[in-house]
Amino acid sequence: MRAAFMYGAGDVRIDTVPDPVIQQPTDALVRVVTTCICGSDLHPYHSMPAGEASPMGHEFIGVVEETGGEVSTVKRGDLVIAPFAWSDGTCEFCREGLQTSCLHGGFWATGGIGGGQAEAVRVPLADGTLVKAPVGEDSELLPHLLTLSDVYGTGYHAAKRANVGPGDKVVVIGDGAVGLLAVLSARQLGAEQIVLMGRHKDRTDLGRAFGATDVVTERGQEGIAKARELTGGHGAAKVLEAVGHMPAYEQAVGVVRAGGVISRVGAPQYEDAPVGFASLFGANITLTGGPAPARAYIEKLMPDVLSGAVQPGRVFDRTIGLDQTPDGYAAMDRREALKVLIRQP
Ligand SMILES: [Zn+2]
Repeated sequence: MRAAFMYGAGDVRIDTVPDPVIQQPTDALVRVVTTCICGSDLHPYHSMPAGEASPMGHEFIGVVEETGGEVSTVKRGDLVIAPFAWSDGTCEFCREGLQTSCLHGGFWATGGIGGGQAEAVRVPLADGTLVKAPVGEDSELLPHLLTLSDVYGTGYHAAKRANVGPGDKVVVIGDGAVGLLAVLSARQLGAEQIVLMGRHKDRTDLGRAFGATDVVTERGQEGIAKARELTGGHGAAKVLEAVGHMPAYEQAVGVVRAGGVISRVGAPQYEDAPVGFASLFGANITLTGGPAPARAYIEKLMPDVLSGAVQPGRVFDRTIGLDQTPDGYAAMDRREALKVLIRQP
């Protein structure tokens, strides 16, 4: 089969590799129908040392081709959504809805498991991992359903960890796909005011369509002042940080209200950050967030996607075939594309 591999910064190639096969009785083989490139795929695209080749992709929808003898929840022919982590669904963390901490699970494209940017994937722990979608592989809903693999669940996780609810004033930092879907999620959860901080007009326009009431294009101290002013002068009680770089964290600390919550879902590209008296402690700020247990949210979020009540797949603004995947990375890196959908023929 063909699959995308990253060989180093800026170097993505399509290679032909052996087809995956069932190895464990809990495995399923999934033929990928649609997958995509994630903003987090751009981190290694900027920094990966040359040398080894890494499979890529962690968001996909596909058709079950074959199952191991112990798989009972999906069968050959089912269209399934794969969240960005695989999990058993039975351990203490899975039962709490924290599947990214599954005691027996893991992540795509690591530890001998392939990536989603491929023609097929061996899915470990298929019963715990895969969710059947009640549509055909030609459904126009596929791009919207694909966001349940990661970006929609991640945006929703940001809002959930911050306990966003009716009447809240929320600031969302970042106008990438996750930030925009954090806006949509905050709106779904009843937020009254949603201030989106981002600089790309086409993206913030989509953010307004998703429910943002205000947009702040300024950065740094100017952006902080503007967001505080918009939310009443004392800052926002709920700040959702969907970038992962230090300036975004500093912006979050700057705009959060005393007693408020900063919820981070952008993968942090730093280890050290201010948490002392002047930043979090003095104002009783809660810092939360982490990798979203996307699996925990799929069944909850899917009905509104199926009904068309929400259209999270509007974050995809370019569609390519698997062979064009290297161009897709380049387009997202140059910010010509917000999020690239890869469709199998
Ligand atoms: Zn588990």
